[in-house]
Amino acid sequence: AYVITEGCLDIMDRSCLNQCPVDCIQQGGRMLYINPDDCIDCGACESVCPQGAIFFDEELPADRERFRDINAGVFALG
Ligand code: SF4
Repeated sequence: AYVITEGCLDIMDRSCLNQCPVDCIQQGGRMLYINPDDCIDCGACESVCPQGAIFFDEELPADRERFRDINAGVFALG
């Protein structure tokens, strides 16, 4: 799955929302999050993010690895 990272914090450009074909991006209080269970790895969101905040999970920079769990955690809460 793709993961939204700190570049989105307090920016929330929202360009990705309209691009996602499965509507698995959700807005939270300070950033947006991707539901890893629904993401189909199309990459459409990554290319439109002006912040460069979105990464394929296998390609997350080391200092942003924690966002994998942060994104997933939003949806695990139910
Ligand atoms: Fe949606 Fe595709 Fe981005 Fe996954 S990679 S969140 S399916 S736009």
